[in-house]
Amino acid sequence: MGMNKKTIKDVELKGKKVFVRVDYNVPFDENMNITNDTRIVRTKETVSYLLEQGAAVILACHIGRPTEAREEKFSTKHLVKRVSEVMGVDVKWVPDCVGPEAEKAAADLKPGEILLLENLRYHKEEKKNNPEFAKQLADLADLAVDDAFGVSHRAHAANAGIAAYKEVVAGFLMEKEIKFIGQTLEAPQRPFVAIIGGAKVSDKIGVISNMIDKVDKIIIGGGMAHTFDAAQGLPIGNSLCEKDKFDEALAQLAKAKEKGVEVILPVDLTIADRFAADANTQVVDVDKVPENWEALDSGPKTSEKYVEALAGAKTVVWNGPMGVFEFDAFAKGTLAVAKAVAGATEQGAISIVGGGDSIAALTKTGLSDKISHISTGGGATLEFLEGKPMPGIEAIADK
Ligand code: AMP
Repeated sequence: MGMNKKTIKDVELKGKKVFVRVDYNVPFDENMNITNDTRIVRTKETVSYLLEQGAAVILACHIGRPTEAREEKFSTKHLVKRVSEVMGVDVKWVPDCVGPEAEKAAADLKPGEILLLENLRYHKEEKKNNPEFAKQLADLADLAVDDAFGVSHRAHAANAGIAAYKEVVAGFLMEKEIKFIGQTLEAPQRPFVAIIGGAKVSDKIGVISNMIDKVDKIIIGGGMAHTFDAAQGLPIGNSLCEKDKFDEALAQLAKAKEKGVEVILPVDLTIADRFAADANTQVVDVDKVPENWEALDSGPKTSEKYVEALAGAKTVVWNGPMGVFEFDAFAKGTLAVAKAVAGATEQGAISIVGGGDSIAALTKTGLSDKISHISTGGGATLEFLEGKPMPGIEAIADK
């Protein structure tokens, strides 16, 4: 897949009606107040640019997983107020994303105005990538913009199918994701170090495997490290373990060895006598985990190894925590990684962090600003790192 994609900077926008797929799947409280508007705020640059260039903007998005019943709680009307505030324009709204009302509102829209369409997923045709539905969306506008990286791993009508009828170009958010993740995976500056943590081998095996193909070093931490340890015959007590993944884990270690990729697993661990914030704890070497204890974090010697491994890195990708960082007592390994990644970035590395937990850990340390790119994608980021096809990105016109 080519990574040199057309963006909104490459096309004529004056007087155009522009269909913009955004990711406004934001969290709400029980009174339908938005509790985190980051996803809206992050599209401001794209929307403002389009308006400044003399375009009329038609925003399309989904909220939640509505059924045929079109649950009211998933209506995009709950976004109108906040989007208006963020964009500084009174946003118009229509109670459907296709059909006569949407067509009329789109036709009447003037340069500098914003129209927000109703939830795309009120129509099951959106996720089915139905061509008729995609054409109806395309017919609302002269041009399509994709700024919804979070759905790029899916071929849906508003991000993939639509490309059959209108040219699709990248918004600024999408451009940034493609630039950082796509180009890094294609031609990384070396040394390239990946840090993969989190609970389960089964969730991350694809990422680990694809990273081993690309990196010089890989740090494997968090709960899944214990599956790697146990597969190699180390005692792990009651630590998290997926016995059915031993073969996979050993295969990845063998692959890394064959490719000359250094695998860094914890050398010491913070163990607990139960899974609780106030459990009794001790630090032990990785081969000394007693029965009935469980490892909930990496230990101080391991943190030193993380710092060493990241010193001099030119590219760093981090996904997933090194321990149960939600409990302060078991957050040290994750915070050490956050600091080491920020430090490597200050020394000139390009750093990419994805996954809600890693981002939360960065926020906790106040180091988010030090990271080159915090990916917004969640599932899309993981699949991109796994090297899976990204139909949403493929649909964007090449330069
Ligand atoms: P993931 O969603 O796969 O990135 O996993 C994140 C979760 O893994 C977090 O909620 C952590 O608390 C959990 N986790 C990390 N390390 C461990 C561990 N050693 N034991 C149990 N859970 C862990």
